[in-house]
Amino acid sequence: MKPLVAIVGRPNVGKSTFFNRMIGERLAIVEDMPGTTRDRLYGDTDWNGRDFTLIDTGGLELGSGLPVGHVGLNGQPGDLMDHVMSQAQLAIDEADVIVFMVDARSGITAADEDVAQKLRHTKKPVIIAANKADNKDRRMDAVEFYALGLGEPIVISSIQGVGTGDLLDRIVEELPPASEMEDEEDEDVIRISIVGRPNVGKSSLLNAITGSQRSIVSNVPGTTRDAIDTSFEFEGKKIRLVDTAGIRRRGRIGAGVEKYSVLRSERALERSDVSILMLDATEGLAAQDTHIAGAIHESSKGVIVVVNKWDLAQEQRKAEREGIFAHPDDEINSADEYREILAEGLKFIPYAPILFASAKTGYHVKSILDAAVKIAEMRYLRVPTARLNEIVQDATRRHSPTVIRHKPLKIFYATQARVNPPTFVFFVNDTEAVHFSYERYLENRLREAFSFRGTAIRLQFRPRS
Ligand code: GDP
Ligand code: GDP
Repeated sequence: MKPLVAIVGRPNVGKSTFFNRMIGERLAIVEDMPGTTRDRLYGDTDWNGRDFTLIDTGGLELGSGLPVGHVGLNGQPGDLMDHVMSQAQLAIDEADVIVFMVDARSGITAADEDVAQKLRHTKKPVIIAANKADNKDRRMDAVEFYALGLGEPIVISSIQGVGTGDLLDRIVEELPPASEMEDEEDEDVIRISIVGRPNVGKSSLLNAITGSQRSIVSNVPGTTRDAIDTSFEFEGKKIRLVDTAGIRRRGRIGAGVEKYSVLRSERALERSDVSILMLDATEGLAAQDTHIAGAIHESSKGVIVVVNKWDLAQEQRKAEREGIFAHPDDEINSADEYREILAEGLKFIPYAPILFASAKTGYHVKSILDAAVKIAEMRYLRVPTARLNEIVQDATRRHSPTVIRHKPLKIFYATQARVNPPTFVFFVNDTEAVHFSYERYLENRLREAFSFRGTAIRLQFRPRS
């Protein structure tokens, strides 16, 4: 779990230059997998042993009420200033630490004062970075930023890379304590996240679940400062819904928060064992859904696909049959059609069960919890080594490994290295000889043999030493 550090400030002070310096090289390593294209405005980094996620808010596209070119406060184009203030607000809402970047060459501008004014009202740590202090005189001048009332400015030159280490030191000092960020690895608690695009019905599902549970235990603080989890018991099992504050808040700020909300979903995802990926039955599958599914798969979590608003879809189908086309352009899919669409569009999570549900009427809400409990149990399944090796031997007998470059693969033995996610290590003669199609074959054999459903499983190959 990583804390979030947001860089805010008016345009051209050097936010993205700093960001690219910190993250640039790492971003080049983007995994070549469908649905995993990362947003380039945020990236993970580490300093002094602490990991955190850095966001360049300058690149976020935020909605603005003012027309382009409208000159607002401070002689800045109105929408631009609006934009900067929205970024600052988002940072206040979502980040753990805020870096307020200013330009040491231009000194304090009226726009800086406005942003500072807003930031002075937050309890979150704010660090001023006076950038473009490329020489001694500029470094001396930078003391003027004390006047913004946000403490000592850290003087940096992003272009030269001078002072950036001091800035990182300060950021790390202000991060929430590592102990606060660590999640307890409690086998008894099933941690569930609800993820999906805005308006698919996440908070309605949350209400349907919590409304039906009389045993709500507590609202427990999550690992980031403003995350609240909800805990309850369901048929004797302890369930923890992760970041319920985030689910309720979404959509509150309106357009432009998409990127933050995606990031927030990904963080909730990382903290959970099982993720409920919600879709809107009346809307079909969007690129964003595929992206989230990719992230779930990548982090090897349990997953249930919930096609929500099934009540509405049924109504619309009925209307269509009666010749009343509400939306003549988009036909509403039947359950079978949906299964086909999902099999194609979410093909990297073929193991996910699909449930058609309605958060509004409560249809299948209990089934969602039942499925989550079952999946969590599967994730803690321990397969006896002897049984595992019987399955592997049987698999290789039935279908011998593909020979790559004349090197036949030989599997000596396999063992389960860990649970949650179930992880299997195969000791082989040569790891290069493992063809991905054979890996998939082995995975499918293990799934069949041990009824793994609704969860990613990991296969690792090691040379036998
Ligand atoms: P942003 O709009 O805040 O993201 O600003 P950019 O990172 O795009 O930088 C705006 C301009 O300032 C670019 O031309 C950068 O090359 C320049 N710049 C950024 N950092 C420094 C610096 O430390 N020194 C100098 N002299 N120029 C800088
Ligand atoms: P979120 O943005 O994903 O949290 O979505 P909300 O829970 O706020 O729901 C968005 C809208 O869809 C609201 O107007 C809900 O009342 C409506 N909605 C949610 N679930 C259902 C459902 O199962 N059936 C119907 N008909 N409407 C739903």
